[in-house]
Order: sequence, then structure tokens, then C-alpha cells
Amino acid sequence: TLSDRLTATFKNIKGKGRLSESDINATIRDIRMALLDADVATTVVRHFTSRVRERALGAEVSKALNPGQQVVKIVNEELVQILGGQTRPLTLAKRPPTVIMLAGLQGSGKTTFAGKLARRLRDEGHFPVLVAADLQRPNAVTQLEVVAERAGVPCFAPERGNEGGAAQGAEGTTSYGDPVWVAQAGVGQARVRQYDVVIVDTAGRLAVDEALMKQAADIREAIQPDEVLFVIDAMIGQAAIETALAFQQGVDFTGVVLSKLDGDARGGAALSVASVTGRPIMYSSTGEGVKDIEVFHPDRMASRILDMGDVLTLIEQAERAFDQRQSAEMARKFMDEEDFTFEDFLEQMNAIKKMGNIKALMGMMPGMSGMRDQLNSLDEREFVRVEAMVQSMTKFERTHPKAINGSRRARIAGGSGTTVSEVNQLLERFTQAQKMMRQMRRGGGMPGMPGMGG
Ligand code: GDP
Ligand code: MG
Repeated sequence: TLSDRLTATFKNIKGKGRLSESDINATIRDIRMALLDADVATTVVRHFTSRVRERALGAEVSKALNPGQQVVKIVNEELVQILGGQTRPLTLAKRPPTVIMLAGLQGSGKTTFAGKLARRLRDEGHFPVLVAADLQRPNAVTQLEVVAERAGVPCFAPERGNEGGAAQGAEGTTSYGDPVWVAQAGVGQARVRQYDVVIVDTAGRLAVDEALMKQAADIREAIQPDEVLFVIDAMIGQAAIETALAFQQGVDFTGVVLSKLDGDARGGAALSVASVTGRPIMYSSTGEGVKDIEVFHPDRMASRILDMGDVLTLIEQAERAFDQRQSAEMARKFMDEEDFTFEDFLEQMNAIKKMGNIKALMGMMPGMSGMRDQLNSLDEREFVRVEAMVQSMTKFERTHPKAINGSRRARIAGGSGTTVSEVNQLLERFTQAQKMMRQMRRGGGMPGMPGMGG
């Protein structure tokens, strides 16, 4: 798979301290092959690799990352861009109902997705309704009704069984009526009955054709939807690009739904759709059940493709929390207990706070388990109080903690709005921290943390 190939590629460069131009070129060649193999559109691959090459060669020397990590980071960022950048939430109409129209080829998963989206919105407290404007196949309306029932939402559908009804008319008109009219009537009914979201299911064909496009465009014109979601089957392969562009030209859409992402599709083609059309992927559909729907997050998808979520998280956190100078400074303090003061203590706590979820981070780093207990005791709320206490110390006290006697403690407690016993606890913890440094010094310094040089 794409993910396996990229992982193999990255394994070669991950640990490298220095990357030469030929390293970078070889890596980019591998990535290029992996993407093409996964059916990612050629234009997208070309753009992607040239961006990565340009950035990797021109990359400034990072203080926090080694060159291998830097390339991984660039690849990840460019991949996120290809996948649409930011997560794009559903646009809700200022004045309800919000009208959402679905478009796409037959079998792409529109009707199934209509149910999933309705169910999700219902769970979020909305009052959605489905409208059956696919009158192409005799059982399409019935299918939507079944889907609606499963989702626990109502469905507006035209009356059936009056074969003598509106049998004549434009292409796509069946004995059930005109889909444009049905869509319009459905939205009107939703408004009257005060539903706040209307999801309009439309017909598809097995291949793009003009009549289909015209019908979809007419429906769009008639109901003026807030969102037109183009549903595309992730298994479609290279035809994805052509199909997406045809729909963009014929109907245009505001967002993309990737369906059948649960299958073992190579998926690359569908992933190119965001980049080629400039429309964001908003949801993915991952099964036949009514709950198999996920909001699409480009960053999460990128890490899933790169199959290295942990590494990326580490890179990000290391970068945020350290620059090399700062970490060298800290390493020196770790080595020299005498230098370790309350100011360093505060600085360290700040660095730790910046690292975010410290427990998760420690879990990812081999050899750090010894520190975990220490860090566990640093509650975020407590941090504020600790900061206040250190702030209430004089410069002399911060650099000479042993000199902090009873009356100084009382003054510090008063100044920081804490109690003497809290100040006592802090001093005790500080002593423990010093002890920890001593242990680390005996153990040969800090274990290999990213951004700690080496
Ligand atoms: P439509 O013609 O665009 O309305 O497509 P349907 O919603 O009728 O779906 C066509 C087929 O694909 C049905 O058999 C669905 O059960 C199936 N299907 C739809 N979405 C998914 C999905 O996310 N995963 C899987 N595995 N099957 C899906
Ligand atoms: Mg359908």
C-alpha cells in the first residue's frame, strides 16, 4: 500500500543527521513512485514532489530537528495541503433550513451517505429531513425511505403508484414526477414544517452524461443549496479526476465526500480530487452502516497515509517545546546540579507545559519512564500556583533555595496567595527535582530526546 511504501522510504532517512542532495533526490524518487502506484493523479504528484524538493533543498537548518526529521515534516505538510489543508466544517444556513444537495455517479454511495449525514446531524441536535429526488430507478425512492427509517429521520418522497401521472416530460422525468419539482417541493415542505436541515438525494448514472448533469444543475438552480456535496467512490481509480472535473463543470460542488474508504482501495486517485478541484474533502464514508461516517481531517489522513503518527507527533512537540540552544542549555543544567535554581525549575515546567500531553509523550519515548512519575505529579492547575510562588521569591531566594527559611516561606505564601504548607511542598518537590538530576547525571545524562542534538 501507499502507506507501506512511504514508511519504508522514511525508515531510510529518519535517523540521518545529514542529508545530501542525492539523499533528498532518492527519497523524492521513492515518494513519487509510491504516489503514482497509489493512483494519485500525475499532475498532483508532479506538483507535490517539486514542492517537497524545493523545500527540502532550501530548508533552513532547523534548531529542533535533524534533516531526516525535517524531510518527513515537509512531506507531511505538503500532503496535508494536497488533502485540502484545514478541516472544513459543514456550512449551516443563517436562516434555516440548511439545504444540502448530493451529487455523484450511480453507486457512488449518495443514498447511503444521505442516511449517515442525517443521523449524525440528528445526533447533534438538528432536525433533518431527507428528500428523494432520485426518480431514475424505480426502487431508489424506496431505498431512501429505508435509509431514512434506519437513520431515524423523516423522508419526503413523491406519491407513487399513479402510473398515469406526470409520465411525460424532460429527460429524467418518470411516472413519479419531475425530480426538479420534487426537490423544490421537498425543500418547501421542510421550511413550512420547520426542519432545519434538508438533504436532497439525487440520481446518478453509471458514467457521466449530459442529461444527468443538466438534471443535477437544474435541481441546484431550483433549490439554491448551501452545500452541494460530490460523493465519490474511493475505489474508482484514475477515473476519479475526470469524473470530479466533469461534475465540477456540470454542476459544481462545494465539498467532497469520499465513500467506501473502508475497502482496500488504493484511494490515491480520490485523494487527488481535493487538489485538482480545489474543493475540500469534508466527510468520509467507511461502511454500509448508518454510523459509518467520519469528518475528514486532512492532517489525520496525511499521518495515516504516512503511517507514522507517533513520529510526527514527536517531531511537532519537540519542535514546539525546544530549540537546540534551549535544550543544550537544559542538558547542561541537568548535568550540573549546582546550577539548578528555581528559575530553571520554572523554565523546565514551562517547557513541559508546552509539550502538551506529557504522559502520552513520555509513553512514546523509550527510557523516559523514570521521569514519568515526577511529571505525573505536575497538575496543570497546580502549575499556575507554582508559578505564582516562584514569582513571589526574591532573586536571591530563587538562586539560593536552601536559604528559604520559615519567615521567607510565610512571606512567599502571602505574596502568592497560597499557604505555607503549599510552599513547603514546592520546596520539597524542588529538592526531589535536584535529586532526579543527580540520578540522571549518574545515569549518563538525558536519554535521546528529539531536538536534544546528537
Ligand atoms: P448511490 O447510487 O450513489 O445512491 O449509492 P448507494 O448509496 O445506493 O450505494 C451503492 C452501494 O454501495 C450500496 O450497496 C451501498 O451499501 C454501498 N456503500 C455505500 N457507501 C459505502 C461505504 O462507505 N462502504 C461500503 N463498504 N459500502 C458502501
Ligand atoms: Mg441512490
